[in-house]
Amino acid sequence: MKLRLIPLVTLFAVSILGAAAQQPASAPANSPDYDLLLKGGHVIDAKNGIDDVYDVAIKDGKIAKVDKNIPSNYAVKTVVLKDMYVVPGLIDIHVHVYAGTGERNSYAGDNSVYPDGFTLRVGVTTVVDAGCSGWRNFEDFKDHIIDRSQTRVLAMLNIVGHGMRGGKYENDTTDMQAEPTAAMAKKYPNIIVGIKTAHFMGPEWTPVEQAVKAGTIANIPVMVDFGGRRTERPMYQLLEEKLRPGDIYTHAFSGERGEQDFATGGVGRGMREGRARGIYFDVGHGQASFAWFTAIPLYKAGFAPDSISTDLHIESMNAGMKDMLNVGDKYLAMGMPLAEVVRDMTWNPAKEIKQTQLGNLSQGAIADIAVLSIQHGEFGFDDAYSTYLKGDKKMQAELTIKDGKVVYDLNAISGEPWDQPPSEAVRQAKRWTRLRVQGFGPSHWRPLPGQPTIQDWRPYPYVPSESSNQDGRTTTNH
Ligand SMILES: [Zn+2]
Repeated sequence: MKLRLIPLVTLFAVSILGAAAQQPASAPANSPDYDLLLKGGHVIDAKNGIDDVYDVAIKDGKIAKVDKNIPSNYAVKTVVLKDMYVVPGLIDIHVHVYAGTGERNSYAGDNSVYPDGFTLRVGVTTVVDAGCSGWRNFEDFKDHIIDRSQTRVLAMLNIVGHGMRGGKYENDTTDMQAEPTAAMAKKYPNIIVGIKTAHFMGPEWTPVEQAVKAGTIANIPVMVDFGGRRTERPMYQLLEEKLRPGDIYTHAFSGERGEQDFATGGVGRGMREGRARGIYFDVGHGQASFAWFTAIPLYKAGFAPDSISTDLHIESMNAGMKDMLNVGDKYLAMGMPLAEVVRDMTWNPAKEIKQTQLGNLSQGAIADIAVLSIQHGEFGFDDAYSTYLKGDKKMQAELTIKDGKVVYDLNAISGEPWDQPPSEAVRQAKRWTRLRVQGFGPSHWRPLPGQPTIQDWRPYPYVPSESSNQDGRTTTNH
């Protein structure tokens, strides 16, 4: 193995950075301070008021430093970003991901999707399942989805004990019980981050009242999908009396329940008074809950959402909604500045669910990051009624980092040229990526005696090293 020279600047960094320079026992001697460095991107971090070009250094899954110029030789791996935005990993607080139970026509089943196929590729690193499970089936959901996904999956517990299994369950007021719901929420703090009520068609206030009671006991917010429109329980009463400040009204731009003033089409009474009281307003686009004829007049009247979310499920994913970035693009198309759109997909939702360790790039924060580019052209954006608004820009997820490691890389900007020998960064790839990297030496398959080794075909010379075959991979690659 060739001896690696320690750059003088690294020694200097060790001396000035103190604790940050201490390496875990497993790290090789003389290794750089940071695992991954994102260099030259435009950082948007609403919590810290940053909207400018900065370098971002990551170590041990956390944000280690955000500074104007962090030299590349401080880091094992540097990714240079040209004309790209570095933002906290996106947080989608309204999705349905309790898939795989086999139940038809149920959000605790076939109507849900597995999260990983819809998240990392659009910069989303955290989702909140909005009430697919209740206290009776939450632990099954946790075991099958939350604990097995790369995406950080949090949950709002349905006030219905059986969860979102269809009208028969969701309209059964006898299964809406605050105490067992709150008890389950308290058993899993920081995983269960809210209480959900949804799809209720009856005239009673029972689901809202029980949800608020559970949310109060567990000290977590309530998210309301207000179900069928009923004169017995008007929307303004929900927002002016029933909900607490900090609770969340989702599907805020569906126009279905009095969000717009009936006479003028402007901001409805409940929306106005609710916002003044501190209720949060969430998009929750879904299959049927985002209408241009509501969103545009409200935006023009100064009523933007607090959080942008998808309501991802099987009926929305290929319809007008599509994905998190497409929903954000709709607000760009309405004229919202990029920094505000990003804030509504990062820091605002983190605050709404009281998970403020997420959604920001403060030193020490969890290193969930989305690197975005802006595509320019002529684009059309659908609402839930196949009517469009035209726009001239569109966000694209270039690189997604979860817990400090690359988990998605659209254009291989963290990769290496195929015809060059692996760099030192590849040798230490476990520090900064979860994607596969090429092995060293004859690691792809182990030849039988007399068979040629694969390095004979490589366009660069094979250099045996101490690291050969230490990547733990044998012949089980796919
Ligand atoms: Zn939903």
